[in-house]
Amino acid sequence: MGRTTSGVKSTKSESDSLFRALIATAVDGIIVIDSHGAVQVYNAACERLFGYSSREVIGQNIKILMPEPYHGEHDEYLRNFRESGERRIIGIGREVVGRRKDHSTFPMYLSVGESELEGRHLFVGIIRDLTELKAQAASHEGANRLLAQLVASSDDAIISKTLDGIITSWNRAAEHIFGYASSEVIGKSISILIPLDLWPEEERFIEQLRAGRGIEHYETERLHKDGSVVLVSLSVSPICDAKGVVIGASKIARDITEKKRAEARTNMLLSELAHASRLSAMGQMSSALAHELNQPLTAIMNYIKATKRTLASITGFPTARANELIENAAHETLRAGAIIKNLRDFVEKRESKRAFENLNKVIEESIRLGFVGVDDVNVNVRLELDPEIPLVLIDKIQIQQVMTNLIRNGIEAMQLVDRRELSISTTRADGDFVQVTMTDTGPGLSPEVLSRLFQPFITTKEKGMGIGLTICQSIVEAHGGRIWPIEERTVGAGFSFRLPLTEGSDLAA
Ligand code: ADP
Repeated sequence: MGRTTSGVKSTKSESDSLFRALIATAVDGIIVIDSHGAVQVYNAACERLFGYSSREVIGQNIKILMPEPYHGEHDEYLRNFRESGERRIIGIGREVVGRRKDHSTFPMYLSVGESELEGRHLFVGIIRDLTELKAQAASHEGANRLLAQLVASSDDAIISKTLDGIITSWNRAAEHIFGYASSEVIGKSISILIPLDLWPEEERFIEQLRAGRGIEHYETERLHKDGSVVLVSLSVSPICDAKGVVIGASKIARDITEKKRAEARTNMLLSELAHASRLSAMGQMSSALAHELNQPLTAIMNYIKATKRTLASITGFPTARANELIENAAHETLRAGAIIKNLRDFVEKRESKRAFENLNKVIEESIRLGFVGVDDVNVNVRLELDPEIPLVLIDKIQIQQVMTNLIRNGIEAMQLVDRRELSISTTRADGDFVQVTMTDTGPGLSPEVLSRLFQPFITTKEKGMGIGLTICQSIVEAHGGRIWPIEERTVGAGFSFRLPLTEGSDLAA
């Protein structure tokens, strides 16, 4: 007679072997015990789970697979069941702890069924190892916790909102940047942050998000709680549900107000510097021209005088007319000299705005300016600024110009070498001066350049004007100071300049 096991029609011996095969190949652990706890069946999955072979377990009390307190309580529990029929776990499943042969433990899900076979009470336990699942859950929890910490500690505002613009989360940085506490804004519309005239832009964003596209590093304006404008760089990503439908957006807003202000300040300084630099260059050019033209003009005057004398000695020559012409030529020659002198005076006498300044600060700003527009130069800047130096009475823009000239020369020179170090120090020298020294690790000053360093139009550069150092010198000297190259260097070039302390320097400090 055949009977059915799991829907398979078979003879008794066939079904026995099928049953054995099923038990042997089951992924879950299967254990059968009798009413006293003695193990009857213990499959291959159990061998893997507990580390005991079936030979070691069959016939033993099931409690060897249990840690305390189950180990000590199990016999009592079975007796109780035999006497009262009270079931605790039978028919249901629960999470318990298993004990391996090496006495280590692991979480497992145990479901227990009972049956009667040839008058004997048997219990069948199905065991699933929860180790991996638990580890996954823990790492999930860990990841969530990490994410929460990241969001909380970010300096950028991280905000999430629904597609209707209702704010759903708001981190600490958002509180700081926009001035609203999270309790004030969660559940409210994001529109409180958006200036009226930027609404069309926001609508465009929302359309873009609905289409699943994000926005990256978009610079725009938002409103602080106090009504002031905050400049932000926005990155917005769509948030999708499990089916991939866009249900909201997460926004990261970086406050760039300070950065923009600094940019504006740098631009202003740069344009002032460019202006001053043009004026200085003009002054320097006219000085040089005046110097160069003085000689030929003097020579012309001498020739004119000589011509006048020569003509006067020729009898019968129409001297009156000739004299008139020669006087005109002399007059024009003098005028040419005066024009050049005027131009020079005009440029040199431009209003110099002097004030007591902290030279260390001036230097720090000059470094920023010196590096503007010079990308990826890989220069290491080392500063040794003496915090004790007194204030100096200077035209800040002009001294900045000296510093940026020296810094740029250094950076340019170091393009030719691998080790690029720019060192700048300040110190109080000889009591009455503040001295600045700047050195680089470039190829150094060549002897030909060194001998004529501060003369105009001396350059070794293809596009150089050769007036940078001349301007530096005239500025430093106009401040009552002195500039010189450091000649005893073995590596690179170096320059020092001194500015005098004036009455009030120490008081101003
Ligand atoms: P420019 O930079 O237009 O040439 P400068 O008057 O600033 O004019 O410099 C004059 C010359 O001095 C440069 O052409 C260069 O040969 C030399 N020089 C200036 N600074 C350095 C330096 N740090 N290292 C090497 N050579 C320098």
